[in-house]
Amino acid sequence: MDLGIAGKKAIVCASSKGLGRGCAEALAEAGVDLVMNARGAEALEAAAEEIRQKYGVNVDTVAADVTTEEGRAQLLEVAGQVDILVNNAGGPPPGMWTDWEREDFIKALDSNMLTPIALIKALVPGMMERGWGRVVNITSQSVKAPIAVLGLSNSARAGLTGYVAGTARQIAGSGVVMNNLLPGSHATDRIASLDARTAETQGISIDEARAARQAANPTGRDGTPEEFGAMCAFLCSKHVGYMIGQNVLLDGGGINATL
Ligand code: NAP
Repeated sequence: MDLGIAGKKAIVCASSKGLGRGCAEALAEAGVDLVMNARGAEALEAAAEEIRQKYGVNVDTVAADVTTEEGRAQLLEVAGQVDILVNNAGGPPPGMWTDWEREDFIKALDSNMLTPIALIKALVPGMMERGWGRVVNITSQSVKAPIAVLGLSNSARAGLTGYVAGTARQIAGSGVVMNNLLPGSHATDRIASLDARTAETQGISIDEARAARQAANPTGRDGTPEEFGAMCAFLCSKHVGYMIGQNVLLDGGGINATL
């Protein structure tokens, strides 16, 4: 299928590894020029170079913390005019509801709600003026069904989801399409660190923790960054003009719900 986005330019936040990297790869495969971002310069440069070699697209890099104002300013300056925005950042730490104080919530809201909103506010007006744009926000399955140990994530992502639901409808008439992509368990460093915590709290090995989690999923496995990236690229394609403010769940059927 021709996604119809060759020659467009995308910012993919938090994309040296994991799900962001999967999105960057799939967009590059569709012929999209990239601005990639992560805090660690070494992994970022390595990922960017691999993508340049593999797909022949232009890739700029911005090594910065996207959850800070300075980081976002750097990203926006390097990027210039952008057609596609993929919002992503690291997820908040796990814990118990009693662990979290105001500062922890502020940090989670900054990372997983206010950062994507700031980038949307910076970039969508230009997309609207030009009559075309795509925004994909990487959120989490926890928006549909809470993950108790990820209370900070549950809270911040619910806030972003509410914002996107209204805003997507306000901008749709200008040709800008915004949707959320909700990962279930995908094989990345993030899920490995959550398995390590489960292993520690339950007194089992990391392999046992991973196996138990995977066995509970209808597919019996984790999703891959490649599968995730392919869906992201589709959500950035010319085919989604009538798909507004949706929450697309990629969880292997893990959430047991009819709708
Ligand atoms: P990951 O494998 O840990 O990769 C995170 C990527 O983001 C890395 O490239 C990292 O590079 C970059 N990054 C992290 N914090 C950043 C920041 N503040 N500024 C710029 N770059 C940053 O994580 P992932 O599994 O891809 O997860 C991505 C998002 O999806 C997270 O919010 C996570 O909570 C959520 N999610 C993941 C899963 C899953 O199963 N994997 C499920 C539900 C939700 P640097 O460390 O060098 O910055």
